[in-house]
Amino acid sequence: MPLEKPGLHRAFLVHDGLRKKYLYSFHPVTGLWPVFALSGVSLNYQNILEQIHAEIAPTLPQGQLADYIPQLACVDERKFGIALCDVDGGYACVGDADERFSIQSISKVFTLTQAMRSADSLLWQRVHREPSGNAFNSLVQLEVENGIPRNPFINAGALVVTDIVLTQFGDAKAALRDFVRRVSGAGDVDYDVAVAASEAGHGYRNAALAYFLKSFGNLDNHPDQVLDAYFHHCALAMSCAELARAHLFLARHGKDKSGEVISPSQAKAINSLMLTSGTYDAVGAFAYNVGMPAKSGVGGGIVAVMPGMFSLCVWAPGLDRRGNSMAGSLALQRFAQLSGHSVF
Ligand code: GLN
Repeated sequence: MPLEKPGLHRAFLVHDGLRKKYLYSFHPVTGLWPVFALSGVSLNYQNILEQIHAEIAPTLPQGQLADYIPQLACVDERKFGIALCDVDGGYACVGDADERFSIQSISKVFTLTQAMRSADSLLWQRVHREPSGNAFNSLVQLEVENGIPRNPFINAGALVVTDIVLTQFGDAKAALRDFVRRVSGAGDVDYDVAVAASEAGHGYRNAALAYFLKSFGNLDNHPDQVLDAYFHHCALAMSCAELARAHLFLARHGKDKSGEVISPSQAKAINSLMLTSGTYDAVGAFAYNVGMPAKSGVGGGIVAVMPGMFSLCVWAPGLDRRGNSMAGSLALQRFAQLSGHSVF
């Protein structure tokens, strides 16, 4: 950010990869050089999160609960939490960061990671990697594009990914739960079976997608089996703290505490897909306003990753018309402004 100072050349505040700030000045002869000893001033994430909490909490509730899954209409719409984990072990949080909620489509990052771990090349013959520009549960594009979903983060794409995981692991529910327990470090993370049953009882659109995919030959397993695993995956209950931690491997080039989860190039690929498809048909505005890979879910959670630096999760249950948390999107936009971080 340029600062004009009388008697000084034009000065710039610069953040380096270690979250430190330096003040640089443009010298007409020598070019850019550091003039102020601001080095060593770490950004205080806790202060930033508290400022966002103070700004946003009084404006809640905002948006609409995801009542097309009846169980999600029972959630208190005033809830709000944020948690951030950095790659050096730092942690900051505010509000309801420890309360578990329904992660919904955030689970698509986990199933994609599992599918990439076990069947990376096969996967990309059955799912594309382009933004959809359509609602996450749209049927029309699938017909026109011969049953190959645009990306793994819309529902049709996630159903294909779930089918692959089902074929690879057999018990896709146990496999995903164990994987999420590993990356989150929370050994008791589990499915909210009431949410899974609620969605199964009303999931006609997802059922239509699954049967449609089967008609194109893009599901190996029976659609009902795929739907059962998919509804459970969406019904994982986790907190912001657990979700921030569970996505840290994407900020650490594929590694978690116990070793490699995926390769560095696969971690880069998942971050790229989150940036281009993680928030559905709002992805352009999201990249514009926030500028970080992110994945949302209709439970009101949004996870964002800053490669090499941190992962964070915000939760506020009220959604905008595209299915992204309204206050959560605003919170991430404020975080990007206040921290100065963006992948661009
Ligand atoms: N389970 C939800 C559905 O299939 C997930 C959608 C979402 O979170 N965007 O509709």
